[in-house]
Amino acid sequence: MQPFAGIAELGRGLARGDYSARELATFHLERIAAADGDLNAFIHVAEERALRAAEAADRRIARGEGGPLTGIPLAHKDIFCTAGVATTCASRMLADFVPPYDATVVARLAAAGTVCLGKTNMDEFAMGSSSETSWFGPSRNPWDRGRAPGGSSGGSAAAVGAGLVPCATGTDTGGSIRQPAAFCGVTGLKPTYGRVSRYGMIAFASSLDQGGAFGLSVEDVETVLGAMEGHDPLDSTSAERSPTRRNGAGSMRVGLPSEYWTGLSGDMGDCLLAAAKELEAAGHVLVSHSLPHTDAAVPAYYVIAGAEASANLSRYDGVRFGFRAEDPADLGDLYRRSRAAGFGTEVKRRILTGTYTLSVGYYDAYYLKAQRVRRRIQQDFLEAFEEVDVIAAPVAPGPAFELGAVDDPVAMYRQDVFTTPASLAGLPAMSMPCGFVGGLPVGLQLIGPAFEEGRLLALGHEFQRRTDWHLRHPEG
Ligand code: GLN
Repeated sequence: MQPFAGIAELGRGLARGDYSARELATFHLERIAAADGDLNAFIHVAEERALRAAEAADRRIARGEGGPLTGIPLAHKDIFCTAGVATTCASRMLADFVPPYDATVVARLAAAGTVCLGKTNMDEFAMGSSSETSWFGPSRNPWDRGRAPGGSSGGSAAAVGAGLVPCATGTDTGGSIRQPAAFCGVTGLKPTYGRVSRYGMIAFASSLDQGGAFGLSVEDVETVLGAMEGHDPLDSTSAERSPTRRNGAGSMRVGLPSEYWTGLSGDMGDCLLAAAKELEAAGHVLVSHSLPHTDAAVPAYYVIAGAEASANLSRYDGVRFGFRAEDPADLGDLYRRSRAAGFGTEVKRRILTGTYTLSVGYYDAYYLKAQRVRRRIQQDFLEAFEEVDVIAAPVAPGPAFELGAVDDPVAMYRQDVFTTPASLAGLPAMSMPCGFVGGLPVGLQLIGPAFEEGRLLALGHEFQRRTDWHLRHPEG
């Protein structure tokens, strides 16, 4: 057995009987055991359960009832509730929380026959761009252990990038699938807001949160998305849409927004431009255009996401579930001390700024204004998509940074300059490997109109047929 095999290849191996799902799970569990002491991509490895699920998958395959994902190992970001398995959101607040139910994403992927090996590390409550805010310690980048895997879904990206699992789930509120995918040299897709159910996905900013997938190729991400997506009566914001289908071949107009393509460092710019040229060589037409409100996305995002987070996180009060301070003097003392000890610094910063921007007297100046900016950004994209079919852009200003190097919160927020606009507009966006700078992977971002994931998958798949960046893997 070899690591880094794609889902279809693994499915063929299972169907032929080259190995059983149990052997496949064991192989990957051994890889996790060997590598994860160092990578810290997992918060929890669910070995027993994985082996039982693998045996069930083997029985299903033997009956001839397997699907494309039956017996395929995967990992879930530790933001998705898993019945009977600890779900921490990388927070001390939920360090001992064992949910009584599965998130819809988890239930659907289990029904498809996937074998969950464990829960992956992340920034606490998905707030961050490096996975360094985890209560369980930072995850590391498989290409360079001294660097961040990105965040917030850093553990999922690192696990796939290191060949510990063939695919994984993640969530993206302002870039948390795309940026770690770019940093770890894997493919990651954030679907359109509403494509994937948020039921059982621990809420950060409810108008932005969206579940998605990591894989070693566009094809694999498409397969995983196929099992996750679709309307869910348990999430009223999930959309009733026909399933995602990869578009047919054909020439597309690929937009290069000037605001995204200026100011990149020389090496980053060269690498990304070469990727755009590859799309041109494949018969697509590059079109330069403008998304004029791009620079307002980060401030608007951090106002809106903080405001929603402050409301969502008010449920952690030490009373019903989660961390609880000992011997409280009274109810106020219980709230205060439970929240003071249960949340980390970045989460507290978001709750404080969010509460401030929603407070009487500041609401209009911050929250309402940010909503207006959000509308402008959505409008920019609507206008752009009258001219172009897909937008191509960088994912992040640079490749993976060193752990600890970005120690100023605002500098960390600025990492999200290229990912927050599509989040605010609710659009599907994907990152795929497109080259290396200083030995570190670089991602190209494709952004599409709402519910046009099929265009991103078509263009991305074509790109991966013409290039081998996604086939390069770190040593060790
Ligand atoms: N880095 C962004 C933040 O910290 C995005 C995180 C995310 O997408 N979950 O809010």
